[in-house]
Amino acid sequence: SIVVTGATGALGRLVIDVLLADVPAASVAAVVRNKEKAADLAERGVELRIADYSRPETLADAFEAGDRVLLISGSEVGQRVAQHAAVIDAAKAAGVAQLAYTGVLGGDEADFDLAAEHKETERLILASGLPYTFLRNGWYSENYTANLAPVLAHGAVVSNAGEGRIASAARADYAAAAAAVLTGPAEEHLNRAYELSGDTAWSLAEYAAEVAAQSGREIAYSSVPAEAHLAILTGAGVPAPFAEILVDVDRAVEHGALALQTGDLTRLIGRPTTPIAVSIKEALNAS
Ligand code: NDP
Repeated sequence: SIVVTGATGALGRLVIDVLLADVPAASVAAVVRNKEKAADLAERGVELRIADYSRPETLADAFEAGDRVLLISGSEVGQRVAQHAAVIDAAKAAGVAQLAYTGVLGGDEADFDLAAEHKETERLILASGLPYTFLRNGWYSENYTANLAPVLAHGAVVSNAGEGRIASAARADYAAAAAAVLTGPAEEHLNRAYELSGDTAWSLAEYAAEVAAQSGREIAYSSVPAEAHLAILTGAGVPAPFAEILVDVDRAVEHGALALQTGDLTRLIGRPTTPIAVSIKEALNAS
């Protein structure tokens, strides 16, 4: 089977959508921790395998020999190395044919805090000896466009990223790439790392200008020092640990860590990536 973990998450659902357009539902399985949340997937004919990354014993039946597996990285920052290790162990014990993993753009070169668990997970996968495909995802455009309400309310995009550029792509683009490496000839994708990012890198000043143009509002771009950004975020109620992650990400953006462009994403999906202007339009239409 083609097996997708995290299938009830935003990226996972999109991967399942692409897979079901391409292969019979009977060949697709979803590893989920919440059966009720996955009821719609079961209705579409996807096999559910219930397991929690945090409870290794539940992973014993998550995989079968020969499965092609997508491990979608977990969302519980700080827990993820142990969680992913449990998934890798289970995949190894089952004898899966391919373990694809959604890591972070730049791989070992990614020097920001959020990348640490991804780098360690890649090391564990390499040590397992399993045939792997590293999907090193750049930033989702939705990281920004899902947060348009405060931008419109304050007429400002605030960051400590300076003029750093971001080669983001839509979640749906990354999902299509993941589906492509799971369904295409496995030999092409085994023991490879793809650096996945958007076709166009943009700055937050350009982002503010595009939101302004589309919304008809005045939107300023305000780049402030890291400490000031941290104070603004915590003052707005963002919990300190998360605010620190956001500030650290902006630091990485400023020095270009999220601007890497290899063309891997557009090559894998066989079409251009979704422009940020399109993601902005979708978010404005939805709001
Ligand atoms: P979501 O939070 O929507 O999805 C995360 C998925 O992981 C959910 O299906 C969740 O299950 C599942 N999950 C989390 N913890 C466990 C666990 N202990 N056991 C089993 N399943 C678990 O995130 P996205 O889909 O948007 O993104 C996918 C991943 O990509 C994120 O988890 C994160 O690692 C990374 N990411 C990347 C970003 C980028 O810009 N490149 C931005 C944000 C995240 P459930 O549905 O039950 O909650």
